[in-house]
Order: sequence, then structure tokens, then C-alpha cells
Amino acid sequence: MFATNKVIKRLGQAEFCHKIKRNFIYIEALVYSMRYSMFVIALLILVFGSFSCTSEKPKQQVVEKFTPIQDHYDTLKFTNGFDYPVGKPNAKGYYNAQKFGENNHLGDDWNGVRGGNSDLGDPVYVITNGYVTFAENIGGGWGNVIRVTHYIDSIYQVESLYAHCDTILVKRGMYVGKGTQIGTIGSNNGMYPAHLHFEIRDKVGMDIGGGYAVNTEGYVDPTKFIKLNRE
Ligand SMILES: [Zn+2]
Repeated sequence: MFATNKVIKRLGQAEFCHKIKRNFIYIEALVYSMRYSMFVIALLILVFGSFSCTSEKPKQQVVEKFTPIQDHYDTLKFTNGFDYPVGKPNAKGYYNAQKFGENNHLGDDWNGVRGGNSDLGDPVYVITNGYVTFAENIGGGWGNVIRVTHYIDSIYQVESLYAHCDTILVKRGMYVGKGTQIGTIGSNNGMYPAHLHFEIRDKVGMDIGGGYAVNTEGYVDPTKFIKLNRE
């Protein structure tokens, strides 16, 4: 009886050791699979993260790349009167095909008097001294967009926006003197008959918007504004 008990005890010990070993194997496998799944999860986050960043890119670019230049007033070049963005300086040879407020339009649409696409590639000029804050293709209905901040004085600033450009000749951060050619009139890759969509905003650095809205807060009538501020 005693001897049998001993055998059973030994057998029990062996089984216990075997169980521990087996558990170790389980734990090792568990740790390994956890490591592996963590690696897979990290990889998925990386892939999907970069994918969602790519899909949000245009919007982010608009916000992130906007650079106010407010801290260099000592060297800042202020405005010196406003001209028209086409037919320098009085818009000679062009007409405003869709005025500010027409169909809730938030800007002016400048077209060549010769009609059609005859103005495709014509020069676009910056309306007064300023600093380029944005110059990129954002696709959609906008295409190539140039945004320039103009410092009237150390308190007041306005922004001009030039859209559907065929080419962009300036870069973000550049100073541009009044009348400098900054791009050319475009059709946004054939989406429209060639024209310049042109906005003036008295609230600098707003989102790109939609070009049309009932609420005109932050926008001014460009032609009215230029007429009132020639020199
Ligand atoms: Zn327009």
C-alpha cells in the first residue's frame, strides 16, 4: 500500500512537472502570438493611418501651410493701393462675367473680351504688395490656387485669392510687389471656359470655402474694394 502510494506520488510529481512545462509552452506561445499580433496591429495602424492622411491631404494643406507673417512688422512691406488682377492695371480687355453676389458668388470671374478660351494663359497679377501664403493645386472645383496676404497697416490685413490658374509662378512665403505676375488664367484643366475666379477677403486665413455662399462674412466685393482703394 505504502509503496503504491509512493509510485502514485512520483507519478503525480512527474505529471505536475509535465503540466508546468506544458504551461510554459502555452505561455511562450501566447507571448509570441501577442507579440506577433501587436506587430500586425502596429502595421495596420501605420498603413491605414497613412492612407487616411493621404485622403485628407487637400484640406490639411490648406490649414497647415497657411503662414501668417505678423511678427516682422519692422521689415514688412505694406500695401500701396490696389489694382485689378487682369489687364494691368485697370482690367483693360477683360470683363466681370459673374460679379460678387450674383448667384451668391463670393468673388469676381474675370474673362477676356475676345470670348471663349482666348484668355487661357493670360497673365494674372497680384493686386498690391503682399506675401504669398498658399500656392498649390488643390484639385476639385478649385485647381491651382494662389492666396496672398496684404498688410494695409499693422492692424488691418486683407487677402486676395486667385483660382483655376493654368500656371503658378510664385511660392509660399514669397514677397510679391504690386503688379507682379503670379500666374496665368486657366480653365481648371478644361472644367470651365478659361477665367480667373478672384476673391478679396477681409478675414485672413479662412478655409478655402466653396466659392458661393449666402453668408458673405469675411468676404468683400472685390471690384468695389479695388475702386475704393486705388492709391
Ligand atoms: Zn467664380
